[in-house]
Amino acid sequence: MEIKEQLLVAKSLDELERLRVKIFGKSGIIAEQTKELKHLDASEKAERGKIINQTKRELEEIYNKQLSVLNKKAMAQKLKSESIDRTIPGREIPSGTLHPITSMINEIRSAFSRLGFNIVEGPEIESVFRNFDALNVPPSHPSRNLSDTFYFHDNRLLRTHTTTVQIRCLEREKPPIVAISAGKVYRPDYDATHTPMFHQMDGIFLVKGATFANLKAILNEFIVSLFPDAKTRFRPHFFPFTEPSAELDMSCPSCSGMGCNVCKKSGWIEILGCGMISPEVLKHFGYTLSDIRGFAFGMGIERLVMIKYGIKDIRLLYENDLRLLKQFY
Ligand SMILES: [Zn+2]
Repeated sequence: MEIKEQLLVAKSLDELERLRVKIFGKSGIIAEQTKELKHLDASEKAERGKIINQTKRELEEIYNKQLSVLNKKAMAQKLKSESIDRTIPGREIPSGTLHPITSMINEIRSAFSRLGFNIVEGPEIESVFRNFDALNVPPSHPSRNLSDTFYFHDNRLLRTHTTTVQIRCLEREKPPIVAISAGKVYRPDYDATHTPMFHQMDGIFLVKGATFANLKAILNEFIVSLFPDAKTRFRPHFFPFTEPSAELDMSCPSCSGMGCNVCKKSGWIEILGCGMISPEVLKHFGYTLSDIRGFAFGMGIERLVMIKYGIKDIRLLYENDLRLLKQFY
């Protein structure tokens, strides 16, 4: 095939480039023919030189045309392959959701807000006084042991319950005090139902004329707001900081009180501890029972989450396993 035709039928820029080198390169056809001129005499040289120049110009013209055609073609192909299809749905951006414990804390806060409670918070590092002494916990009580509490060297500790926040309220406010607090607490335990860090909520209701009937009404209302079909019952109990004290049970949501493994066949599940604030605790803050009465209550939040979602091992809540967490999306 003549070189001109080869240029005209070149199908790609690569092929065209190979032809350019073959024709116009250092050892290309034009260069070779120009070299041959030295063997010719003067008149032939002039004649032949003219022809070579003319051919070169023609070939250059064809080459440039073909280069522009192939460039346009390549650009069109590139645009086609990179074009955007605006009808394809966008990529989904994964978003996180609240941990079930955070959701439960939010639910508890909003339930008590509706009942008129203030939401308060306190630090996780506390004094031994606020964690034990102010709550009438005897010096020999086992909960004070090194095996039950994380201590620092300076008479401070990681709070073992959120009741410390009630003490802070009593220190800075005058009654009426109606508040709840929820947050992290610490105890050195680790098994299927205990973790060294867990969550509690605690409430105080210190209002002139408060009675045990108020306590029952408020806690009933709270339980029903979380578990609408639940029944409740109060059992006598003992806590150092309340007198009288009680534990609140609710009917087991898994079996509606019929008896199952979750409730150990009893039909009831223990939910929280409560009672009228002990005169010994009030005394620390200069009150007597003739001045004021009130009640307090507290419970573990993990336990509520486990009951609500049927989780059997508390550790699942802290393993950050997406297979579990995604179920709460
Ligand atoms: Zn049950």
